[in-house]
Amino acid sequence: MKITVDRDRCIGAGQCVLNAPELFDQDDEGTVVVLEEQPTPDQEPAARAAEHACPARVITLV
Ligand code: SF4
Repeated sequence: MKITVDRDRCIGAGQCVLNAPELFDQDDEGTVVVLEEQPTPDQEPAARAAEHACPARVITLV
């Protein structure tokens, strides 16, 4: 699995960080930063939770 995000459309809601703090952070402006683009199998459920929780739908799992 690979995580991609559209930072231009991120609204800084922080749901990704709440659901997967190992995978996502936010910069000083609140915009999402991907910490780990290729999550381990153990981290994949958290990645999916973040994808579903993002209100702007900018997280894509490939
Ligand atoms: S949940 Fe979505 S909109 Fe909110 S910070 Fe994360 S990527 Fe951005």
